[in-house]
Amino acid sequence: MLRLEFMEIPRFILFGPKAMSHVPRICRNLTKSRKIFVLTGGKKTTRIANERILPYLLEEGYEVNTYALGEGGVSFEKITNVYRMFKTRRSSLILAVGGGKVIDAAKVLSALTNTNYVSVPTSAANDGIASPAISYLLKLEIHNKLRRRKIRIHAPVAIIADTEVISMAPKKTLASGCGDLIAKFVAVKDWELAHKLRGENYSEYAASMALMSAELVVRRAKFIKEGLEESARIVVKALIGSGVAMSIAGSSRPASGSEHLFSHALDLLSKKYGFKPAPHGLQCGVGAIMMMWLHGGDWEMIRDTLREVGAATNAYELGIDPKYIVEALTIAHKIRPERYTILGEVGLTREAAERMAKETGVI
Ligand code: ZN
Repeated sequence: MLRLEFMEIPRFILFGPKAMSHVPRICRNLTKSRKIFVLTGGKKTTRIANERILPYLLEEGYEVNTYALGEGGVSFEKITNVYRMFKTRRSSLILAVGGGKVIDAAKVLSALTNTNYVSVPTSAANDGIASPAISYLLKLEIHNKLRRRKIRIHAPVAIIADTEVISMAPKKTLASGCGDLIAKFVAVKDWELAHKLRGENYSEYAASMALMSAELVVRRAKFIKEGLEESARIVVKALIGSGVAMSIAGSSRPASGSEHLFSHALDLLSKKYGFKPAPHGLQCGVGAIMMMWLHGGDWEMIRDTLREVGAATNAYELGIDPKYIVEALTIAHKIRPERYTILGEVGLTREAAERMAKETGVI
């Protein structure tokens, strides 16, 4: 019998300089209510929302409630606090203004309250800005805290990417976005492998879209420079493409393979040993170099592209001790056992992991 396919994709995507000034127009199209809830992170993103979004909403007569998550990471506790405040405000739309952590918090809040959210990224560090997925560690935490309850994370109902703001984000964010994008070359190879060996559902449409996003980075690598509006535009466009590829596939499959498992493994080890992990996209980029080597593909092209855009290509540039890189490689296959990749069911031995990391210049 033919399989039923379900796609949940954003209704509006707006990107370019001063895109934030168009927030009221998007809100008008999404809700009749005049109550908007604006979620921000630390001082910087709160200032961006206060200066570049709120005046436009207030001018149009919207009642705006704002909540700042504060500096640092996002946790279940922080989301619970927002949830309590949100419940008293009865807003009909959530605007998430910030980086990946703020958007992740909005995704969970949206799922808990059954309210649509708009993704308004202030940086382009990973494809979470457009996807129906949240970061691995937050997912684990929520899974543990809500033991009896499953929540379904949705794609944003709209994405408003102001490339003028995004081009002013810290240097490493754009490079990190490129790392997350180049990872798709490996993710799609892993997906094809799972399709051939395991009969896993495979969508050529979603796979092509993810690959197109990665190819865009390779083709335009020399134009991707910090502080340029044009660079932010290339990376944001590709990240949105990747997020939509996940929405089409109905899972993160086209965007996340063995290189993401390696990154998740590093995140887990960082908790265990107390070291600081590198940004998600940078870890995935380094993972992609090694996993492409394992696939027998053009890993040097991946490494050279990462180098060109200023992303990490080895343990030293990630700021992570080589011994953790090797350990992460040996446990990566256990992270999501249902996600079949080139790592297979038994993964790599320590010796094999070490050899691969050395041959690719990662350690
Ligand atoms: Zn990713």
